[in-house]
This record gives sequence, structure tokens and C-alpha cells, in this order.
Amino acid sequence: MKFTVKTNTPFDARPVPLRCPHCGREAAMVGIGAHDIDVGGGLWCGQRMCPSPGCKGHIFVVHRQGTLVESYPPSTIDFDSSAIPPNIVSSFNEALLCHSVGSFVASALMVRRTLEEVCLDKGATGKDLKARIADLKERLLFLASS
Ligand SMILES: [Zn+2]
Repeated sequence: MKFTVKTNTPFDARPVPLRCPHCGREAAMVGIGAHDIDVGGGLWCGQRMCPSPGCKGHIFVVHRQGTLVESYPPSTIDFDSSAIPPNIVSSFNEALLCHSVGSFVASALMVRRTLEEVCLDKGATGKDLKARIADLKERLLFLASS
């Protein structure tokens, strides 16, 4: 999304709540001592940082009265990656990142890659992904019934 600068009128950088793209914590991102910039339409651009002492990650934000419109890096959907093999987590994280910037086709392709890696990790067999997912389903049904 493109934002055009209207004025650079000084503005107190109000906290902007979001999930930190660096550490994953929900927090009110605080100003870093720089003024926000009016980009018109009631929107303001500015810089914030995560208030978590262990993070303090830098974030560019576009907000309307303190309500987030866009951020960079973008916030992604939170998910628990514990006990998931690193290659699967890597592909899924890339899918989430694509989704967070509105690249939905690329996100769908990465979800497909994630599914391929899950099938490979679980030893599913079949001539294509549809067959491997069906094989995986049969294995899960067998495990559930035994
Ligand atoms: Zn953080």
C-alpha cells in the first residue's frame, strides 16, 4: 500500500497496539522520540519500538488515531511451533509472512509446500500431494481406532 506525505506536522507519537513481529508479544508499541507524519485521510506514519526489555524491536507503523493500519515488518498470525520439525516451521512461517503482506497466491503455494513437507516427514506415500494427504488421513484414522 502506498502512502503519500501531506505534511510533516509534529505529532505526539501515541502507542500503537499490535503483536510484535520480532518477539511475538502483544503490546502497545511506544514512540522512539520521532514525530509522526500526516499522510492524509486521517492516517499518520511513524516509528515505534516494542516495550519488552528483551526485544525493543523497531517497527514502522501507519495508524489512524492510534489504531494500526499497516506495519513493517508486518505482524503475522501467531502459532505454536514447538515440536514441529524446523523445515516445516520454515515453510509455514514463509506462508504466514506472504499472507501478512497480502500475497495470498504466494502464501497458498507455501502452504502447499508445508503440506508436502508434512507428508514427507510422516512418510506418506502416493503419486501426488492429494494421494499423500489421503494416505496420511488413513494412517491417522488407523492410529485413532487402535
Ligand atoms: Zn518485541
